[in-house]
Amino acid sequence: MARARTIHGVSVSPGLAIGPVHVVRAAPDAVPHWSVPEADIESEIARLRRAIAAASEELLRRQRLVAEQTGERDAQIFAVHRMILQDPGALRDVEETLRADRINAEAAVHALIQRLERTLRPLEGNSVRSYSADLSDPWREVLQALMHVVQPEISGDGKVILAAAVLTPQVVTAIERERLLGIVAEAGGRFSHAAVLARAFGVPCVVGLPGLLPRLEQGMQLAVDGGRGTLELRPGEEQIVDFQARRQRLEQRRATFAERAGDPARTSDGGSLQVQVNIESLRDFDIFNCAHSDGIGLCRTEFLYMERPQFPSEDEQFRMYRRVLERMAPKPVTLRTLDIGGDKRLPYFQTPKEENPALGWRGLRVSLEWQDLLRIQLRAALRAGVGRDLRILLPMVTSIEEVDATRRIFDGVRTSLLEHGWEVESDVPVGIMVEVPSVLFCLEDLLPHVDFVSVGTNDLVQYLLAVDRDNPWVSKLYEPHHPAVLRALARVAEVAGKAGRPSSVCGDMADDPATAILLMGMGFTSVSVAPYFLPEIKFAVRRTTLVAARELAAEVLSQSHVEGVKAVLAAFRERQLV
Ligand code: PEP
Ligand code: MG
Repeated sequence: MARARTIHGVSVSPGLAIGPVHVVRAAPDAVPHWSVPEADIESEIARLRRAIAAASEELLRRQRLVAEQTGERDAQIFAVHRMILQDPGALRDVEETLRADRINAEAAVHALIQRLERTLRPLEGNSVRSYSADLSDPWREVLQALMHVVQPEISGDGKVILAAAVLTPQVVTAIERERLLGIVAEAGGRFSHAAVLARAFGVPCVVGLPGLLPRLEQGMQLAVDGGRGTLELRPGEEQIVDFQARRQRLEQRRATFAERAGDPARTSDGGSLQVQVNIESLRDFDIFNCAHSDGIGLCRTEFLYMERPQFPSEDEQFRMYRRVLERMAPKPVTLRTLDIGGDKRLPYFQTPKEENPALGWRGLRVSLEWQDLLRIQLRAALRAGVGRDLRILLPMVTSIEEVDATRRIFDGVRTSLLEHGWEVESDVPVGIMVEVPSVLFCLEDLLPHVDFVSVGTNDLVQYLLAVDRDNPWVSKLYEPHHPAVLRALARVAEVAGKAGRPSSVCGDMADDPATAILLMGMGFTSVSVAPYFLPEIKFAVRRTTLVAARELAAEVLSQSHVEGVKAVLAAFRERQLV
């Protein structure tokens, strides 16, 4: 057997995984176009048919997912899409183009999509969701299958480690969670949204592995150490035994944390930290125990939108949000309004191609321009919140004007619901994400306009340090423990505390137990983390004291270098948490 090779990368999500690799490739933006020789036409048609079958499979998978989320009725659109793919007329059309023009299947499918959109668009009014898109979407799935976005046959018993050139949300969701052992990628931001998803799934993940893909064969055994950020190609017998022993120890440790995960995170000297969870999908409820969490500190609603073929209607959203609120009742649920843009795109919503997407049209900016989307979302949320502890969170806030404008829309939606006879809670708190430096400096003025604040450190770090969270070329500079970030955080906790507003950190840096204690020492009232990390954080808080947490904060804040901060945190872990 070939000797195993250890490759060092960057840790994105901890945990150990061993299993066969399955290489996925993200589709290039441009549709490839080439000529097919006469002799190869039939095999090109066979490739097209295989792609149609794979696209139908994918649509069936999503149909089941949405049926689980909100019920069969909402999932019907996928059944319709699958029927569209079975239409012999469209298939004949594509095959004829392919034969007549002697072009590849991708180009022929693309031509059909363009024809559908050209001929149907004039019939449409200004509706956000168009009829032509309904007819062309299933064919876009075929195009994706042709371009190997997801390769259909997965080897072995179905559980795999995915490998990709770039870690994207599409890669993380390429197969069902139950089949996903781990993820490795040549490139990807440690705090990108795809990384957030990998952590949320509790799937070991390593990035920063340039030149990896050419060294892999489909089905080759890999061992991934997400915590250390390493990868073994073809591990030998001895390494597998060692790896399994380590995995067993890790599981034992996690079992210890889990034993008392339901107890509150309180220190012996009266300190306490609310430990809430971040969710992205209703399926997250399968991986954590609601009773263990102090609520949902961040529901990233855009991912609920992404799992669908078109904008969810008000009723569909109502049913999704109601399910979340009901599962968590009586605990609070913080629904964040749609935060698209940057690397989060909806396949059915055309957003501009921007030079600097992180500084562009995203988050609240989109909601304030497409106000009907915001109104529908708020209506659905307010209807779902009756009798439940609902909170609304606004992403990417940069100014007091934006908050005022949103509050006016919120009040308008409330009034209109009441006028139309709907029941609505009288007091639904509205909070803002602190993600943009301007907010840090306007906080005193902003706080009277909001009910709580939640710091999105994933974005705050990117904007404070001018380091794109998705750009692997600068990922070494992306440093949540930079003294500037820590001082910004301390300021938020202090100012919010003085104004009597609850403050939370829902960015991923809070998932490290020592950092969570540091945040408590600064004065934050809660953290919100991926479910995987909750038991260990609560365990760590119970092992410390408020006095020690405050001392830790003071010592960390006196550091001028990242290394100094890290050394203080490491010494604290050694002293208090081991
Ligand atoms: C953040 O920016 O820290 C955050 C929680 O939001 P997201 O990761 O979804 O951008
Ligand atoms: Mg953010």
